[in-house]
Amino acid sequence: MDNKSNYKYLLSDLTALKGVGVKTTNLLKKKKINNIFDLLWKLPKSYTDRSLSSKIKDLRIGEVQTITIVPKKYSFPRVRNLPNRVLCSDETGEIDCIFFNSFEGYVRKILPIGKEITVSGKIGYFRNKYQLTNPKYLSEDSSLIKQKHNTYSLTDGITEKTYNKIINQIIENLPLLNEWHSKNILQKFDNISWNDAIEDLHKPENVGSYQKNFYQRLAFDEIFSTFLVNSEIRKKIKKIKKINKILNIEKQNEIINKLKFSLTNDQLKTLKEINNDLCSSTKMFRLLQGDVGSGKTIVSLLSALNTVNSGFQVALMAPTEILSRQHYTLAKEIFPKNVNIKLISGKSDYKSKKIILNELSKHKIDIIFGTHAIFQKKVNFKKLGLIIIDEQHKFGVNQRKRLSDKGGNNCDVLLMTATPIPRTLTMTMYGDMDLSIIREKPKSRKPIKTYSKLESKINDVLKFIKKEIKLGHQIFWVCPLIEESKKIDHSSAVKKFEYLDKLFPNQVSLLHGKTDIEEKEIILNRFLKNEFKILVSTTIIEVGIDFPNANVIIIENANKFGLSQLHQLRGRVGRGDKESTCILMFKSNLSENAKKRINILKDTNDGFIISEEDMKIRGFGDILGFKQSGIKNFKLADPIHNNDLFLLAEKEMRRIEKSNENISKFKPLIKLYDRADIINDIA
Ligand code: ADP
Ligand code: MG
Repeated sequence: MDNKSNYKYLLSDLTALKGVGVKTTNLLKKKKINNIFDLLWKLPKSYTDRSLSSKIKDLRIGEVQTITIVPKKYSFPRVRNLPNRVLCSDETGEIDCIFFNSFEGYVRKILPIGKEITVSGKIGYFRNKYQLTNPKYLSEDSSLIKQKHNTYSLTDGITEKTYNKIINQIIENLPLLNEWHSKNILQKFDNISWNDAIEDLHKPENVGSYQKNFYQRLAFDEIFSTFLVNSEIRKKIKKIKKINKILNIEKQNEIINKLKFSLTNDQLKTLKEINNDLCSSTKMFRLLQGDVGSGKTIVSLLSALNTVNSGFQVALMAPTEILSRQHYTLAKEIFPKNVNIKLISGKSDYKSKKIILNELSKHKIDIIFGTHAIFQKKVNFKKLGLIIIDEQHKFGVNQRKRLSDKGGNNCDVLLMTATPIPRTLTMTMYGDMDLSIIREKPKSRKPIKTYSKLESKINDVLKFIKKEIKLGHQIFWVCPLIEESKKIDHSSAVKKFEYLDKLFPNQVSLLHGKTDIEEKEIILNRFLKNEFKILVSTTIIEVGIDFPNANVIIIENANKFGLSQLHQLRGRVGRGDKESTCILMFKSNLSENAKKRINILKDTNDGFIISEEDMKIRGFGDILGFKQSGIKNFKLADPIHNNDLFLLAEKEMRRIEKSNENISKFKPLIKLYDRADIINDIA
């Protein structure tokens, strides 16, 4: 607190505040308010006006009002539970001030007989008289009662008065921080300083002024700090020198020529981007983003092969065993026999695991497939050159950073995600990585026909799937989870299974959250081999698994899902070249708004467009994968409403990257806002 230009005051523990003890600190910590800075984002909801009202005769019952009165007579009943009472008056009438649980001495002190006192509180009316119960705001000097008091949402067990007191205290003690933004940026916000903006943010009359300069500036600070940290991580990784890989493009092309399909332009483009990184003498840290079914696997396998041919090992991790087995099988099929490929499975026995570990450490294995188990400590590689992680949208920036450190300097990192997200979010979530995007779907792909149906028309649906089954096709039937008092309920899926099992005996299986992992793998494998026709499930079928023979998906109670989620579910079919169908079922007729949403889904199969629309409708918090992404929540910034600020932040970040500007002036911004622990040694 002594150094007025030091941001560190804001990072101090809450106990540094006057009047804040252990109890309040603990209450605040429960609300994830851990230091003084965090408290700055506890914003007033509205305010109470405590400016002087008129006289007693004009008081409005039930409202908070402020009057100047003179105490006239005490009554201190010696009976338990009866309150102390002070009769007060002004020239227009009388009012009782009532005190529960107060000592006589205290009452005498704050309301001395004959003195003019200004009191404030909610006015009541009892036995034909106005009354004020436990008045908290009172003073001999009416000007000492602050006129506007912020009101806060008070679920935290902390009183309004305390919030007002501590937040005022912080604002009075705000360190004078040097401006970190360029003139150009600052101008966009009418040159308001961070300090002034914080002050404005807490002014009661500014509640909800999202468009005002102070709010925009602070939202921008938040976005920009995130982008800057991302940029720093990216720069740091770019500085890591590695042995460049020498690729054999001919061998790569031999494989490409033998494929049953030709690669799309986007697949070729992204493969080239990855290859360039492999050949460069700095470490790759790249995200391959592409909609479900856009063909990311083959791109990653080709880069794996290139890495192997340059004398390195590759580790490919997938979130589930069945998915990693699918990748493994594909690699076995298309790679030359001399490439040694292995799969670590949860089911492998101790002995064969030990052999694999041994072979990995001696570079007898070129490519290892598996789940997260392949990154356990005891797994040692002799010469790991590339880590590939499939469907990683659940990783946050910290986990990614650790991963990129894991393989050592010579190890490149490629992540893949099938969650198309709006650009503002991509920058926020993945700004630390280089980005390769596959937008184009394989040409052979037929659009998935999407219909909506009322549940009462289920017979039409049954007729349709009978026909499909006759043609040898398979069907996904998705039932939503019904959440009842937090216990997840699978009853809808179980009931549907029983219903369908009667109509299609021995053709139906059921998967839900309680199915154990082994059982689940068995069922999915049987479905993959076309051993039964209809898979009833809750939404637990992972993305990524290829069921080429399944071409119909029925989604019940479709209004329970967001557009992006429906799109992901729908993406489980339509991966082969068959005609495929998605039927969205609804309990009742759709509202106009819901129809609009569903039409977006019917009109396009482009996940990027759908996610933009979804975000506009539902807010970014609900976008699939965003919640689990580990990214911190913005306090003020909103990717929908502040789209322009995100773009501005990106532009400014690029400008700084290009001009190689020293970023030490941003130190307070980064340290205060977030994730600064990732780049401890920032200048
Ligand atoms: P995702 O991007 O969702 O991981 P996959 O890599 O699993 O998609 O590919 C989905 C399906 O598309 C696979 O069956 C794959 O063989 C096929 N595929 C990939 N690329 C092409 C292409 N260029 N043309 C036709 N089919 C392709
Ligand atoms: Mg995939």
